[in-house]
Amino acid sequence: EAKKRGGDTVVSFNDDLHWRLLDRADLEFRLRSAIGDGEMRLHFQPEFDLRSGDLTALEALVRWEHPERGLISAGAFVSVIEEINLAADLGRWVLEEACRRLADWKAAADAKPPPVVRVNISAGELISTDFVGFVGTMLSRYGHAPKELGIEITESTVMRDLEDVLATLRGLRRLGVTIAIDDFGTGYSSLSHLKQLPVDVLKIDRSFVSGLANDSGDRAIVSAIVRLAEAFGLTTVAEGVEDPSAVAALLELGCHRAQGFLMSEPLPADEISRWLASPRDYLGSK
Ligand code: C2E
Ligand code: MG
Ligand code: MG
Ligand code: MG
Repeated sequence: EAKKRGGDTVVSFNDDLHWRLLDRADLEFRLRSAIGDGEMRLHFQPEFDLRSGDLTALEALVRWEHPERGLISAGAFVSVIEEINLAADLGRWVLEEACRRLADWKAAADAKPPPVVRVNISAGELISTDFVGFVGTMLSRYGHAPKELGIEITESTVMRDLEDVLATLRGLRRLGVTIAIDDFGTGYSSLSHLKQLPVDVLKIDRSFVSGLANDSGDRAIVSAIVRLAEAFGLTTVAEGVEDPSAVAALLELGCHRAQGFLMSEPLPADEISRWLASPRDYLGSK
């Protein structure tokens, strides 16, 4: 029986591979026009202060509204964007759209705007021509103070291209933009790297947060990251908080802020507008 199943697996694997290859070609083809055709959308996920429950930031997460397949998450296509050299185009679109939305929220009379909007930036975007200049242009075009814009880069992005990335990060820092290291704990940066990096925020990777309440290894890692951040004067944000027991553990360990499905999924900009007008108390702090 096992042998028969094995045989089936080979057949379905080939079949699957065939479709995956077709999908991939189609994906690349469609992506090349998707940005220009207005098929990209930004969703925003709130980030909260664990003690006060206050909104501390909104993180912009890109989605592709595929004409036939519907909304596709960033995780499913951003790496392809990089591979087909569209990173700079996507990055510019995301930055401008985030600045435009923030301007709308600041203009709305009935709602308190987020203190900062964070945008995820990939390596290809970060080292594209005059990235810092483009950020400056967007800030002045939409009337934002630099500290109202944050950028998130993954720890592995930093490590891949340290010299070029560092030069751009220093430019952003001079401008006054807030810099967060995303997925922290997964990218093998050394302490000496961290010392060199002009960063403000460490976002603790979801993989250490999800099992926090029950896994002593995860607890040890999060505790070490929080203490490291404290030593460098950085703010810690836990990603992927799905469970109240994780909130309790994070508070105990001294983590500052949290983000995750427990409080809110990433939401379309219009829903965020309504939400900002009547924020709810997700962490039960008030
Ligand atoms: P990230 O920046 O670490 O974002 C967190 C990802 O985890 C998002 O997936 C978010 O929807 C998801 N998430 C948030 N809270 C929870 C939770 O409680 N549980 C679970 N299981 N997941 C949660 P998404 O939107 O698919 O983004 C994946 C990655 O793609 C992001 O990771 C980021 O690195 C990248 N990305 C997203 N938007 C952009 C963008 O505009 N430009 C670039 N270059 N990269 C982006
Ligand atoms: Mg992020
Ligand atoms: Mg992350
Ligand atoms: Mg995140």
